[in-house]
Amino acid sequence: MAVQFKPGVNMRVIPQILDALSKIEHIFARYSYIPVVTSANDGSHSSNSLHYIGAALDIRSKGLPSDIKSQIHSVLQGTFRTPWYIKLEYPNQDNEHFHIQYGLAIRDKNQKIIGYTSSTVYDYTGNRVNP
Ligand SMILES: [Zn+2]
Repeated sequence: MAVQFKPGVNMRVIPQILDALSKIEHIFARYSYIPVVTSANDGSHSSNSLHYIGAALDIRSKGLPSDIKSQIHSVLQGTFRTPWYIKLEYPNQDNEHFHIQYGLAIRDKNQKIIGYTSSTVYDYTGNRVNP
């Protein structure tokens, strides 16, 4: 797989993230780039970050030509729709990256999906950690 990993990246992630990484590889390949994963289930993120449960991925965007960067950003947004969430984080800074997150479903007592959240915490096996 033509994907690179920053040293220390922990790829203990949910299956959706592995599928996403395969798609990201193909998207970058269209522009003759290899994606670099800078964080998965690791790093320092906000306290309720989905990174800590293996449901988010950071892909380096720093160093991409700005036109390619914006094209890839558009393709990512078109590819990963709700419940996915894509954001270019730290634009124009050294740690600039695409944050790709699988926003998990909030269900009511009848298991009907009533929304998606980044605050409901599941672990990487899919078990809900908190109410
Ligand atoms: Zn992130």
